[in-house]
Amino acid sequence: MTSSFEYAPAPESRSIVDIAPSYGLFIDGESTDGTGPALKTVNPATEEVLSEVATASDADVDRAVRAARRAFTRVWGPMRPADRGKYLFRIARLLQERAREFAVLETLDNGKPIRESRDVDVPLAAAHFFYHAGWADKLEHAGLGPAPRPLGVAGQVIPWNFPLLMLAWKVAPALAAGNTVVLKPAETTPLTALLFAEVCRQADLPPGVVNIVTGAGETGRAVISHPDVDKVAFTGSTEVGRSIARAVAGTSKRLTLELGGKAANIVFDDAPIDQAVEGIVRGIFFNQGHVCCAGSRLLVQENVHDEVVAALQRRIGTLRVGDPMDKNTDLGAINSHPQLDRIRELVAFGVDEGATCWQPEGELPGRGYWFKPTVFTDVSPAHRIARDEVFGPVLSVMTFRTPDEAVAKANNTTYGLSAGIWSEKGSRILQIADQLRAGVVWANTFNEFDPTSPFGGYKQSGYGREGGRQGLAAYLKGDN
Ligand code: NAD
Ligand code: MG
Repeated sequence: MTSSFEYAPAPESRSIVDIAPSYGLFIDGESTDGTGPALKTVNPATEEVLSEVATASDADVDRAVRAARRAFTRVWGPMRPADRGKYLFRIARLLQERAREFAVLETLDNGKPIRESRDVDVPLAAAHFFYHAGWADKLEHAGLGPAPRPLGVAGQVIPWNFPLLMLAWKVAPALAAGNTVVLKPAETTPLTALLFAEVCRQADLPPGVVNIVTGAGETGRAVISHPDVDKVAFTGSTEVGRSIARAVAGTSKRLTLELGGKAANIVFDDAPIDQAVEGIVRGIFFNQGHVCCAGSRLLVQENVHDEVVAALQRRIGTLRVGDPMDKNTDLGAINSHPQLDRIRELVAFGVDEGATCWQPEGELPGRGYWFKPTVFTDVSPAHRIARDEVFGPVLSVMTFRTPDEAVAKANNTTYGLSAGIWSEKGSRILQIADQLRAGVVWANTFNEFDPTSPFGGYKQSGYGREGGRQGLAAYLKGDN
C-alpha cells in the first residue's frame, strides 16, 4: 500500500528454509505416510503451493495414540523429572538456534509479517520451552500437592494464527508434567509443526513422546475422541470448541478450551493519546487481527472520541500492508480464502447496519489474500461487528461517558478473554480491571505475552488456563 513516504524494500531471504515437496505424519519418531488424501498448504501472500502434507485417518491417529501411550508407560512417565527437563532445555535451545528458519517458514506458510514471526512467535515459543523445562523437576511446588502425577496421553488441536507458538503453549507444559502428546496442527499452517518434529529428532527425544498428525477437522475429531486420550486441549473457534465439549462430556478425559474473543480496549480521557493509539493499533492489527484476544472493540470516552479517531486514522495511514517477507511490513496476508470471505461478510454487515466504515488509501497486492486495516465508527452495541468475532484487521469504535458505562459496555459480550485499559490513574485502572469479566486485562499496553502469566477466558472464550503455574494444573493429577 502506498503511504506518504516509501521505504526501500528490505526482503528477508527464504533460502534458509528447505521445504520438501511433500511431508508425512510424525509418529513414533518416524515420518510415515498418511492414509487420507494429501492436502496442499499455500503461501497466502502469493497463493503459491508450498508443499503437500499427509492427512491422518482414524487408523493413523490410532497408531499415533498407541505410540504416545507406549512412550508414556515405558519411557517418559518413569523418567527422572530432571532428565525430562534436560530434553525440554535442549528443544528450547534448538528453537533458538534455528530461529530464523522457523520465522521464515512461519511467515511463508501463514502470511504474518516476518518482523512478528522473528520478534514474537519464535522467541516466545522458545521461552515457553525454557520456562517449562525449569518446572519439570519442581512440580511438587506447583501448588497441586506434594507429588502431582501426569495424566497420560494428551490430544491437542491448534489453530493457524500462531502455529508454532500454539504448539509450544500445548506441548511444553504437557511434556514438563510428564505426559506424551498427539498434536494436530491447522490444515493451512502445518509446516512449522513438521519442522518441530525434526527438532524433536535432533534433540533425541524418545520416539512417541511427541507425535504430529496433520489433516483437517476430521483428523482433529479423531484425536479428541480417541478413547485412549486422557486429556484434550483445544484452541480455535467457539463453534468447534462446543462440539468438542459435547464429544468429551461423559468421558473421563480432562478438557481445556481456548476459544474466541471480542475484547474491549477502553480509553479514558486522561490517557496519553499517542501511547493509546499505538496500543490500539497493536491491539487490533497485530497478526492481521487473527488474534483471539485482539482489542476489536474500542471504547473511547466521549469527550476524546474525535481526537482519538483522528490520531488513529493518521497512524493507520502510515502502516505498510504487503509482502510479509519484507522487514518493514506491518500487516501481512489474511491466512486463507475462507477467512477473507468471513471478514468481508462481517464488514458488509457493518456497512448494511449503518456504521461508518473507514479504510486508508492505497492499493493491495494483486495476488494473495488481503484486507485493509478497517475502522468502523458510529457503531452501536447491537451491531454484528460489535458482537461477532471478525478475526481480521477490523476495529469497531464505540463511546462511553462514565466509568460504570465503560464497564457495562465492556462486559456486554458473550466472550471474556481479554481487555485493555488506558488511563493515567493507577487507582482507576485497578478498580476497572477488578470489574471486567476477562481472563487477561492489560493496562496501558496490549497483546503482551509471557510464559509465566496464565492466559484463558470466561464464558464463551473457554475454560482452563495456559501458562504459569495455573497452566500446569491442566496436565497434572494432584492430591488437592
Ligand atoms: P476451527 O476452530 O475450525 O479450527 C481450529 C482447529 O480445529 C484446526 O486445527 C481445525 O482443523 C480443527 N478442527 C476443526 N473442526 C474440528 C472438529 N470437529 N474436531 C476437532 N478439531 C477440529 O477454526 P477456523 O475454521 O480455522 O476459524 C474459524 C473462526 O474461528 C475464525 O474466524 C475465528 O473467529 C475463530 N478462531 C479462533 C482462534 C483462537 O485462537 N481462539 C483460532 C482460529 C480461529
Ligand atoms: Mg499455508
